[in-house]
Amino acid sequence: MSRTERIAVVGAGLSGAVIGRMLAEAGCEIDVFDTRNHIAGNCHTERDRETGVMVHVYGPHIFHTDDREVWDYVNRFETFLPYKNRVKTTSKGQVFSLPINLHTINQFFGRTFRPDEARAFIAELADTTIEDPKTFEEQALRFVGKDLYEAFLKGYTQKQWGCSPTELPASILKRLPVRFNYDDNYFFHKYQGMPENGYTEMVRRILDHTNIRVHLETRFHRDLGADFDHVFYSGPIDGYFDFEYGRLGYRTLDFERFIYDGDYQGCAVMNYGDVSVPYTRVTEHKHFAPWEEHAGSVCYREFSRACGPDDIPYYPIRLMEEKEQLAQYVARAVQENAVTFVGRLGTYRYLDMDVTIREALDTARLYLSHSPGETKMPAFLHSPI
Ligand SMILES: Cc1cc2nc3c(=O)[nH]c(=O)nc-3n(C[C@H](O)[C@H](O)[C@H](O)COP(=O)(O)OP(=O)(O)OC[C@H]3O[C@@H](n4cnc5c(N)ncnc54)[C@H](O)[C@@H]3O)c2cc1C
Repeated sequence: MSRTERIAVVGAGLSGAVIGRMLAEAGCEIDVFDTRNHIAGNCHTERDRETGVMVHVYGPHIFHTDDREVWDYVNRFETFLPYKNRVKTTSKGQVFSLPINLHTINQFFGRTFRPDEARAFIAELADTTIEDPKTFEEQALRFVGKDLYEAFLKGYTQKQWGCSPTELPASILKRLPVRFNYDDNYFFHKYQGMPENGYTEMVRRILDHTNIRVHLETRFHRDLGADFDHVFYSGPIDGYFDFEYGRLGYRTLDFERFIYDGDYQGCAVMNYGDVSVPYTRVTEHKHFAPWEEHAGSVCYREFSRACGPDDIPYYPIRLMEEKEQLAQYVARAVQENAVTFVGRLGTYRYLDMDVTIREALDTARLYLSHSPGETKMPAFLHSPI
């Protein structure tokens, strides 16, 4: 039986687009709202006018997943071409390969270790006096020792989070950040790729359905919810409640664009580990589309800083203070009627694109599993806490 409910979807990013599409296919009438003048949220891509290069406007996005259904889903709307993320880092005047692998170790220490030798060598460097690491720094020292920590982890982390790694929890560095082979593919996932025509074109196709209307440059306030049977909200949870308990902490990014005639750095992403360099990395966008040819090149220097009220929230901070504040918003949210909070901002979590799509599919599926009128959707399918 076809559905007829009126649904508001707040945010035209991946969360909103995937939920909107699935409900539209079931017959619901969907209104998608976004404050920006474009769809696709933070995955937005657009062609640079000067060079013709496809630019990842809000920072580099590489699609990677082990989730077969999600991979099939994105391939239904866009052709994904093979792309492996191979990151380099400049540290103290030398270029190394990341994540730290056998090549990085041999180059850094001027050695020719085989895997077992390197493993034993790193074990020797590890600071085993730290029995119960509490901070990021202690965890790193326990895993890799002082030299590798200072060259590859310390400065970058400090710039990224705007505080000393001694103030960050050990949980940020969960696993040994080292590979004892020459594998420099940044991600382990089975399926990896880049959309041939960019992410925005993919999202445009997802939203291209007769039951979907997209309202750009339109802010959704919760008062509008009364006009709809249900609201799926992928905006910031603190914003939904007009920041009643204060603003949740985020890091924001500034991008300094520059043009280069030719090939600026020979790779898509070059990190800068030294604190004397104020930016964290340089992204050269044309390398994300190796099947295209462009004489000119567009690059972004990326700077990280605390997010102010007028900035774009990028990375949720989620330290103790923010988690206490978040608990207040969650307690309010579960009392709301007919609203489900989704996505990276709605649940205040860092989510990769594949996880975002997986959660959006599950959310829409749960909604459709109830009969119209009987629908009792929870405020959260995935607890933010
Ligand atoms: C720098 C960076 C790099 C990343 N790189 C990768 C990567 O390489 N691979 C990967 O898998 N993932 C990556 N991600 C994660 C990826 O960006 C997210 O998974 C994805 O953007 C989440 O989609 P979303 O729809 O939940 O949120 P968003 O894309 O943020 O969409 C939310 C939308 O809601 C709109 N909105 C907010 N409030 C309102 C309101 N009140 N009314 C109307 N509209 C509103 C916003 O304008 C926005 O467009 C990266 C993230 C960052 C920050």
